[in-house]
Amino acid sequence: MHRDLTAVYVNDAYAKMLGRKDVKDFMSEPDLRQYIPPSFHYEAAKLVAEFQEATGFHGWKKVYNLRTDGTPVWMEISDETVEWAEENAVLTTAQLIDNGTTAMQVDHMLGRSFIGVMVHRDMTALYVNDAFARLMGADNASAFMEKPDILRFIPDADRERALKHVADILHGEREGERHRVRDVLDNGNIVWRDLTDERILWHDGRPAILTTAHDVREEVEMNEALMRTKAGLEEAVTEVIRMVPSAVAMLDIRQNVVNYNREFARLFGAESGNSDDAPVFDITILREMYDAMIKSGHGHANNESVRTPSGCHADIRMNLMEDGGVMVSALDISSHKRKEQHLDALASTDPLTGALNRRGFESAVSRLREIRQLKGKVWQFGLVVLDVDYFKYVNDTYGHSVGDRVLEKIAVTLRQALRDDDLVVRLGGEEFAVLLPSATAAVTKRIAERLATMIRAIEIPVGNSGDENVTITASFGVTVGGELRGHFVELEQAMLTADRAMYAAKEAGRDCIKFLTFDDDIDS
Ligand code: GH3
Ligand code: MG
Ligand code: MG
Repeated sequence: MHRDLTAVYVNDAYAKMLGRKDVKDFMSEPDLRQYIPPSFHYEAAKLVAEFQEATGFHGWKKVYNLRTDGTPVWMEISDETVEWAEENAVLTTAQLIDNGTTAMQVDHMLGRSFIGVMVHRDMTALYVNDAFARLMGADNASAFMEKPDILRFIPDADRERALKHVADILHGEREGERHRVRDVLDNGNIVWRDLTDERILWHDGRPAILTTAHDVREEVEMNEALMRTKAGLEEAVTEVIRMVPSAVAMLDIRQNVVNYNREFARLFGAESGNSDDAPVFDITILREMYDAMIKSGHGHANNESVRTPSGCHADIRMNLMEDGGVMVSALDISSHKRKEQHLDALASTDPLTGALNRRGFESAVSRLREIRQLKGKVWQFGLVVLDVDYFKYVNDTYGHSVGDRVLEKIAVTLRQALRDDDLVVRLGGEEFAVLLPSATAAVTKRIAERLATMIRAIEIPVGNSGDENVTITASFGVTVGGELRGHFVELEQAMLTADRAMYAAKEAGRDCIKFLTFDDDIDS
């Protein structure tokens, strides 16, 4: 006989059934909870409270209790509400049986298991073992079952999904797969658990959900720590990229710029309207390099002189990374290029007159020829070689510096008289040549006439009074080269022919123009 799970009367048989010496021994500690498995404290207390309010016989059921030494006692009990000392009490009769219900056996097996187990229905726990209770921050199953509401652990944002999930399981519409949940405990701590839910028939004859739970807090924390480490590394990489003076960027496998520094933005940035916006890059060149690199099967590529969208010259290196992205570095070599071009210009022009020298002339001619031929046009040119008459006399009479001024003036005159595509070269001393792309013999002769006239018109003032001028004349040799009537006349050959023509002009008394062709040359 008991009230609120405290015994008010037992007989000797009941006392001994639960491992007590006798009635006196039993009644020295009358709290019945010590015999009830912790997982059932809650249910037992609720039942007893209900029975105390009710009347009559409440039926038989199989349960198990625990003796004081912890061994289980399987028994079949009946409960009946009776009046005892003017108040309701519950009269329980018990007889030993071989084993209990499945639920009892499960509890007996799982009570000490380290796997958390809970049976629940309508977001209320019907049963938990100690492992589960501890997982949820309670000391043991019985402490947990004092507040069997489990909805409170589920963060608001997850509730709707959780309710749907358990309803589906309960109605047999879903098999319980292992899933990871995050619960917020009463003390605010967060636990991560992997749950497996299963629909079972509870011992009250109605379906419930059996949930087994594994604590995955450590795994989650480890993952988080790893993510932090990864984020830390990425930050460090970003910092290094930011610091290096050359342009550096990381491109992902789809060749999107995922990380870059200022220098990279300067070299590859397309104009962006707003400085707050992420910069827009023009990385067509890099994409082409990437494709070529992948095609070649190499893990790296190098292009020593690339024109970037911002108009710079860059030396670009590319390295394939494990994830299929690439690390790109680009060094701005524009100033090197400029110096190189400047040196090129120095090496190809004559310092006194600014006209091309022989070397510059030859490369300019072959460039012109290539361009013409690329355009599918015939390569043909007129060539005029001229040599100043009696130039030694100018030097001897007025001095070397006057001679220099004459040469300068001739170069300027030739340049001004000709078109941009025409080439003016100082072959040496007071000898110049002019190459006229696409000019026919007739045109070349006419132009030579014009040049002769202009040179005759040159006046270089000399002497202190300033009214005395030096005037000059020149002897001209004219020819044509390139593709001519089935022949192809190279520049070198044409130069010799023009030279011969020029000497013919000297022979003829100077200040005149002579025309020779390749054929004439052979004949003579
Ligand atoms: P010709 O009519 O036969 O050509 O007679 P020329 O006196 O012009 O020819 P020559 O070859 O005898 O003399 C050319 C002179 O040009 C000799 C050389 O000192 C002079 N000369 C060559 N280069 C330069 C230069 O850069 N500056 C000056 N002032 N004179 C130069
Ligand atoms: Mg001369
Ligand atoms: Mg000469």
